[in-house]
Amino acid sequence: MAEEKQTTTTTTVSRHSEVGHKSLLQSDALYQYILETSVYPREPEAMKELRDITAKHPWNLMTTSADEGQFLAMLLKLINAKNTMEIGVYTGYSLLATALALPEDGKILAMDINRENYELGLPVIEKAGVAHKIEFREGPALPVLDQMLEDACHGSYDFIFVDADKDNYINYHKRLIDLVKVGGVIGYDNTLWNGSVAEPADAPMRKYVRYYRDFVMELNKIEICMLPVGDGITLCRRIS
Ligand code: SAM
Ligand code: CA
Repeated sequence: MAEEKQTTTTTTVSRHSEVGHKSLLQSDALYQYILETSVYPREPEAMKELRDITAKHPWNLMTTSADEGQFLAMLLKLINAKNTMEIGVYTGYSLLATALALPEDGKILAMDINRENYELGLPVIEKAGVAHKIEFREGPALPVLDQMLEDACHGSYDFIFVDADKDNYINYHKRLIDLVKVGGVIGYDNTLWNGSVAEPADAPMRKYVRYYRDFVMELNKIEICMLPVGDGITLCRRIS
């Protein structure tokens, strides 16, 4: 019995250390429970459709998980967000979650270096009737942020979701803390980086996990509230 339990634990641990696993919970069963009781039954039809389309895409590991989408939607409603920004769109799952959660006159400035993937999900976003809230800009986000600071767009965002190049998170933060309004929230995604942030420095890791881990850990030094949702979200609230 003890041995059987040990085997189960070992299997679970190794499965959860795989790159791309969407939950940091203790067991797959527990994660499945959350998905089946809280998330999937309430997931809007359009988000399910987008999730299915994304699942067929070769880079589907990048998508936001359904439980994280639900969390973002709840957070946006709790803070009454209206003017938002997203850096890192991919096929648009978190973008659609945001667009659905915002009021009719809500706005999202969405940026990604890749328009093709955004266009894969766009028909679903249009069908859901929320495309008018989105302004998509193709290209690297940092220069856009610099321009916004020059144009004195300071303190104009209620919520900003950062889910792009992790090696720029600190650079994003330096700019976003000016662009978000006082009382506004910035969410940095994947800040637990598949659990690697808690691993010893010499632990075996895939090359790209190790590379981005250092940047994520640097960002985590300024954390305000870190949540083990999805692959970890660090929320920062501007207070002055
Ligand atoms: N939030 C998305 C979702 O819910 O599916 C996932 C985003 S995916 C993890 C990261 C995205 O960041 C990719 O689509 C990539 O093209 C984009 N990206 C990478 N570097 C970028 C940059 N410098 N500026 C803007 N987007 C970038
Ligand atoms: Ca992510």
